[in-house]
Amino acid sequence: MANYDIVIVGASTTGCWFAEKMASNGFRVLVLEKELPENVSRAYDIFHMSEPEMNRFDLPIPDEDSPLREFSFNGSPMCSPYGTYRKKAGKSKIIGLHKHDYIMFMADRAKEKGTEFVYGAPFVDLIFNDKGAVVGAKYETKEGIKEVYSKLVADCSGIPSVARRKLPDTSYVENFKLDPVAILYVILYYFEYADKSINPRELDSFFMQYKSWAAPAGEGYDGLFGIGGCFSYEYAEEVYNTQFMKNVTFPEHTVKKVEKGMTPYHRSVYSFVEDGFIVMGDAAFLTKPTCGEGCTSSLVQGEIAVDVITKLLNKGEALTRKNMWSINKRYMVAQGKEFDSMRPLLMGLIKMNSDEAEYLFANDVIFSDKILGGMDDGLNLTTADIIDMVKGIIKGVVKKKISTVSIASLLKGLRQSDAVTKLYDAYPESVSGYLEWKEKADALWDEIGTLADTCDPEIMKKLGIQ
Ligand SMILES: Cc1cc2nc3c(=O)[nH]c(=O)nc-3n(C[C@H](O)[C@H](O)[C@H](O)COP(=O)(O)OP(=O)(O)OC[C@H]3O[C@@H](n4cnc5c(N)ncnc54)[C@H](O)[C@@H]3O)c2cc1C
Repeated sequence: MANYDIVIVGASTTGCWFAEKMASNGFRVLVLEKELPENVSRAYDIFHMSEPEMNRFDLPIPDEDSPLREFSFNGSPMCSPYGTYRKKAGKSKIIGLHKHDYIMFMADRAKEKGTEFVYGAPFVDLIFNDKGAVVGAKYETKEGIKEVYSKLVADCSGIPSVARRKLPDTSYVENFKLDPVAILYVILYYFEYADKSINPRELDSFFMQYKSWAAPAGEGYDGLFGIGGCFSYEYAEEVYNTQFMKNVTFPEHTVKKVEKGMTPYHRSVYSFVEDGFIVMGDAAFLTKPTCGEGCTSSLVQGEIAVDVITKLLNKGEALTRKNMWSINKRYMVAQGKEFDSMRPLLMGLIKMNSDEAEYLFANDVIFSDKILGGMDDGLNLTTADIIDMVKGIIKGVVKKKISTVSIASLLKGLRQSDAVTKLYDAYPESVSGYLEWKEKADALWDEIGTLADTCDPEIMKKLGIQ
């Protein structure tokens, strides 16, 4: 017998949001969180969400004087590898918030709607019935292991994916552990500039080639510099010291504070749903391919899940893989196709060396105000844009500014991007076509590889990475 309609594992942004929505719709919801309330999401302090996305997902925007909010700014420009060219970024207003505090605020909203939370209660296992459907979860307490039964278990546990990983190998939801090649290890350096006349806001920028950005840091600091790398924090630190600081002239500064955290850099899992089970958020790898942010992009799938699951529960229908399958199809069309087709293209771009990328910035090829300025609404390229890009690239080759090896990897990225779009457009409408589709998708992703394939061999050798 189910004690709850839904048990959610993980009380961070995805878990609290889903809990609030499902409790608002009248369902009995329990959230299990391994940390005590004061320790939830403490790896880093400030996070950002754009104003339009917060409005879309009904995430209240705190007033300017609220302790939850630190600052707001308009999207940062994209900078060339030597910092010479700055191209327009998205136009949206970005809100900087204190992450732990905002999550506790989200949890309070979910509680007001009737959600129950158990903190300091790590999930340990799924409970299955004799047909193999998930019917509940086991979790640890000071008094020992407890069991809770529900119609659905939602894994919102982030990268550890603690519940997804307990599914059997025969499950349609993949149960693999995320490898360090598919994780961005992010270091945040909080700066104080020696020259107090510097306007830190004029330094806000994205540097795609180094997977890094300079942004506002909040009270007490002049700026924040974030950098991400595959494999380890040491890899990211090496890129910062040996490439970024060498190539880009940054004002004299002192590092006042360092924070570290991980974000997935992987295609989404192919299927989110099983009998009595759904995986969401970072546990399903729904982060933006351009920057690794995932708080609002996760909610695109969340919104679809709320719609489908609410309708099923209201009709008294079981939350089976078959009945919930439309969540997969609708997500792939709404966001999955766009995000995952961008990955091979970005890998092709990142593989270019700094001189080549600088040439593209200088000549408005790919890195143009028009293309980068429209990124808010996704990478919507017209045929004319693509023809302009190809012309610009050919010109670069003729002028010997772009090597044929880089062209080959860019073209490969474009071809693979197109292949992902077509395959994801053909995502099966029902469970029956899934295994055949998965076989094709596995072969394509084997060919595409991972972001780690773009890593610097010199740094890898120095750090002893095989
Ligand atoms: C340095 C850095 C900066 C970032 N900045 C931004 C940003 O500005 N904007 C943005 O949108 N994204 C940002 N991201 C990405 C963002 O942090 C994630 O996409 C987002 O937190 C994912 O939320 P989630 O709820 O899915 O998972 P998580 O935030 O990882 O939460 C998982 C929860 O599950 C709990 N849990 C884990 N194991 C168990 C268990 N066994 N039992 C019970 N509970 C468990 C954890 O304690 C945690 O509370 C950043 C990431 C990093 C590393």
